[in-house]
Amino acid sequence: EVYPTGQWPHPRWVRVNTLRTSSKEQLDTTFANYKHVGSIEELLTTSKGTEKFLHLDKHVPGLIACSPSENLIHIAAYRQGLIILQDKASCFPAYLLGPPATGRDCLDACAAPGNKTTHMAAIKGTHGAASTGRIYACEKDKQRAQTLQSMVTLAGADNIVVVKAGQDFLRLDPIDPQWNNVGSILLDPSCSGSGIIGRDEELAVTLPKIEDDISSKSSRKRKRKTPNFQPTEKPNRPDFGVKTQGEETTNIENETSQESATRLEALSHFQLKLILHAFRFPHATRIAYSTCSIHPQENEHVITNAIVSPTATKQGWRILRRDEQVAGMAAWHIRGDQGACEEVLSASPGVRDGVDAEEVASACIRCEKGTKEGTQGFFVAAFVREERETSSAA
Ligand code: SAM
Repeated sequence: EVYPTGQWPHPRWVRVNTLRTSSKEQLDTTFANYKHVGSIEELLTTSKGTEKFLHLDKHVPGLIACSPSENLIHIAAYRQGLIILQDKASCFPAYLLGPPATGRDCLDACAAPGNKTTHMAAIKGTHGAASTGRIYACEKDKQRAQTLQSMVTLAGADNIVVVKAGQDFLRLDPIDPQWNNVGSILLDPSCSGSGIIGRDEELAVTLPKIEDDISSKSSRKRKRKTPNFQPTEKPNRPDFGVKTQGEETTNIENETSQESATRLEALSHFQLKLILHAFRFPHATRIAYSTCSIHPQENEHVITNAIVSPTATKQGWRILRRDEQVAGMAAWHIRGDQGACEEVLSASPGVRDGVDAEEVASACIRCEKGTKEGTQGFFVAAFVREERETSSAA
């Protein structure tokens, strides 16, 4: 191998924004002078003078990988919202969630800066459901909600996405009639960020703004001062300094093991709470859950705890099995950690009937950072249930 595992460079991932353009149009214009290579490995190991290379992703439609040295933030297509710089792994959740049933609404519970919101909008738009159903994008942090709104506008998704600025998802009442049309929910909550490599997702939305701003430095400083996520669901606890994707905070790896264990526990409690809340939306039939964390505590543990919860049983939710997943996701080879699922099941005797650790683990999708796949560290899984005639929140 050319690079040791964990040390492969990271490609520049480009998602073609199909709300504004098409892959063909972008390949014929923005990327007209690029040579196509057959794999990420080839892309990362090929370098010939001034020649430019790209690889068309095999898992997510409309996704392109460019060489790590490419600086795409200055090109017109990016500044016009025709392309979005979004890591491959970060494209998995909206793709796994799939298009909503015609006319159905989606809820994006933790939406800023809006990579997955705009991806959902593109999928929805492409399937012709844009004119009826909406995407409600909740973002608790008002400042981050402004970034979200800018990204939605730049992506041409204003007619599909309704930004709920300052809205705490946990404070939405699932049985409020305004959510009667919600068929799918995307949960991409605050996490330790332990899988993040660079800052592509942040750069993707902040740089055009910063460049157009009078002072990029003061803008960055303001961002650093933004208070970290406050775990309001645990009012008696101190602020755990939970890092959200795209924020500058201390890395969990630098903490003492006691600090990180406490923080992980708080995070996984919060993440499970979000899923259980999502389970209560009476007409939802699909939920995708994701983190940019590599820790099982935020991933398999949360998913398995959710499945064995009384709420899941009462509301009829189960894991979306690998064989039921959209082709690109079923084909992805890195799956969940079975031992981590088993750990939760063996700690919950009596509830494991019908829940199989192997099946749950294979339904979970993982991405590793620094490998020849070119992704960041990431986790995603989805829940499903049959449409119900009548349903009540519990
Ligand atoms: N999905 C986003 C994307 O792809 O661009 C990234 C989401 S980031 C990991 C998590 C976001 O959730 C943060 O912006 C955070 O402020 C927000 N958040 C955290 N708790 C929330 C809550 N209870 N309700 C709504 N938003 C929340």
